Parts: sequence; C-alpha cells; structure tokens
Amino acid sequence: MKICIRRGAKQIGGTCIEIESQGKRLILDIGQPLDSPNAESVEMPKVEGLKTPCESLLGVVLSHPHIDHYGLAFRVPTSTPFLMGAATEQILKASAIFTPSGGTFENITHLENGKTLSLGPFKITPYLMDHSAYDSYAVLVEGDGKRIFYTGDLRNHGRKVSLFTRLVANTPPGVDVLLMEGTTVSRKNSEKGFPTENDLQKEFDLIFRTTTGMPLVWCSGQNIDRLVTVFKAAKRCQRQFIIDMYTAEILRATGNSKLPQADWDGISVFLPEFQKKRLLHMDKASVADKYHSYRIFPENLKAVAKNSVMLFRPSMRTDVERAGCLDGACLVYSMWDGYLAEEKTKLFLGWLNGRGIPMYKCHTSGHASVSDLQHLRKAFASAVVCPVHTTDPMGFTQLFENVRVLTDGKLFDIN
Ligand SMILES: [Zn+2]
Repeated sequence: MKICIRRGAKQIGGTCIEIESQGKRLILDIGQPLDSPNAESVEMPKVEGLKTPCESLLGVVLSHPHIDHYGLAFRVPTSTPFLMGAATEQILKASAIFTPSGGTFENITHLENGKTLSLGPFKITPYLMDHSAYDSYAVLVEGDGKRIFYTGDLRNHGRKVSLFTRLVANTPPGVDVLLMEGTTVSRKNSEKGFPTENDLQKEFDLIFRTTTGMPLVWCSGQNIDRLVTVFKAAKRCQRQFIIDMYTAEILRATGNSKLPQADWDGISVFLPEFQKKRLLHMDKASVADKYHSYRIFPENLKAVAKNSVMLFRPSMRTDVERAGCLDGACLVYSMWDGYLAEEKTKLFLGWLNGRGIPMYKCHTSGHASVSDLQHLRKAFASAVVCPVHTTDPMGFTQLFENVRVLTDGKLFDIN
C-alpha cells in the first residue's frame, strides 16, 4: 500500500489522505481548511477522481461531520462512493437546510462500529471514537498484507471515554502505520490534560445558580456532548433549556433517543429570525411544523428568563434584545478560545460590554491531550507514527517514538 497525505501533514483541518493498493485508491477525509472562507475558494487536492469521475477511486471515507474533514465533499462528482456513519449522513443533510455547508449524497455506504467492509483490495474497519463531533470514527485500512490505522479526530475526556480506553486496551495487532492526529501537540499546557464534560457540568451548574437572569450559552449546535452537559446542568438548576431550531434538527438527526430531544420535558425550541429567513429561503418552512408543540416565542422569553438557559449565537442579538430578556443575563462562551480573536467576535464582545453582560468561559478541547496521545501511540507498538492534523509535525519527534514525518503530496510506500 502507498499513502499520500494530500493536505494535512502540517496543518489542522482540510485533511485529505490518499491510500493506494493495486492501482485502486481510497480517500480518507476531504476537508475544507479552517482558514478558508468557503469550500469554493479552496483548491481541490490533486487526486484523480475528485474533479471528474475515475473508476480507480473506490471511495471517500468521511471520519466525522466536521467541516475540516468533509467540507470539499460536495464538490466531488456525485457518483463517487462515500463511506460515513448513518448519523453523519443525517447531520449533513439537516445542516444543509440551515447553513451553506451541509448537503446530501447519492452513493453512500454506512460505517458501523467494528463492522469490516470490503472495497476492492481494501478492508476497512471503523472504530467509533470519543470526539466533539457526533458519530466520529477512526479507521483501520488493510491491503496488500499491510495495515494502516487512521485516528480521525479523537479525545479521551468527552462523554464517550470508554471508546478511547477500549481502543488503547484492544488495538488491532500488526499495524504498520499509525496516522495520528496531533492537534494539541503545538498547544501549550496540553500535557496536563483537559477538563472532562463532567467537570464542565459543575462549572455550568455554578454559573447557572449564580445568574439572576438568563444564561446565554454560546456553543456549537453540533457539539452533542456539550449540549448534553448544558442540559444536565440546567436540569439540576431547575431551568429549562431553550435550543434553537437548527440545534433541534441536529439532535433529531442523530437518531439517538437517549440524547436530549425537542419533545423532552425541560426543553423548548426557539426559532431565531435568521433561521426563520433561511427556512423560507430554502422553501423548508415545513421544518418548523415538527416543533409546533415545543416552541417558545419571542414574546414569552422575558417571563421565563429566570428559569431558563438559552443556547445562543451572536446572530441572535436582535432576537433577545427585542424580547427584552437580558436583565441579569450572562454569556457563557463554550467554544475554542481562538475564535475570540476574530474581528466579528470582537464586535460581538463590544455589544456584550455595552449592555453590561458578563462573560464566562466554560470549555474543553475536542482533541486528545499529549499524554493521551502518548498512551495511544504506545498501544500501537508495531507501527511507525505519521503526524496528521497538526501544526507541529516535528514536535512529534520529541514526544513519540518511531516517528516518520510526511510531507503533503509525497508518496510513502509501505510495502
Ligand atoms: Zn479536525
């Protein structure tokens, strides 16, 4: 087998890895680089079959529904076979109604935890993983008597830590190459580890108890672990959790009835003005019908502010301001710190300041700490480890044994 990292050998996101065996090829992820404004502005990786159909390209695996792993997928010829989790397919479909980044596929095979698929000379075994995206997989690719293990994005401090622990305890034997994500390798203090979602739950609990008005929680509607954390903390504080309709659709798309859903006690659905416009624009006003019985309307927000926690994003400023529900409110910022430096976020922070709304931070990384990566790497004793999804590939050589740093576009023949 041959490996070629097309993008991602020295950057976080935009991942695209090509694997070749017996003249057939497989792609692992086809992401949009995080610093690009949209998928259209990105140069497609130079891989045959990504611009025009090519029969030697047997499939594109999407490890999870984060844009830095799937963002260019909708520019690939529609006949191309895609492999992804069933929930990933539904999440991307639901996203397409509310954002420009989702979409649908014509030719799909679903990844299922532990179920090996055969594709030409390749055998692909997915491993469900703990990550901030729902339905995330690592994959074992076998061919030509060789084994490659691609971690996708993973962590060991979310709500599914048992998946990471299980992988470390039962790694597939005889793996030749470990393609391991190293998001945290360049980030200071990651050696100490990160707070767990349960740690965050306590922090949210404290903030909710000490806030007299409505806590506005700014987190990703696709960070399902975090939504569960916020819901649990809100419930303990006897506050209802008001989610926006986009988030309600994402939760529904998971198909998992154990996750908070719009029809649960303690959950209400709010339709922000920009989402309402988007539904009309997409001719999907019928989506709102599903939530008719669970809606909360702007005119009711003020009355419930003291007994609620609201999922929030800056585009909802006008909604909450008009609703007059900001007395005693606070903002809980629950995303990566790096976004705070963006110009548009600074404008929003100015808006908060102007209204005297305090901001608290409550977040944990979606990626494994360096010490967890070291445990993982040791578990794959037979493998050479190749850095992906990192800004510091050379940093791997200081932290892990038997490292081979690859370069974007250069072939690595492992036979
Ligand atoms: Zn990623």
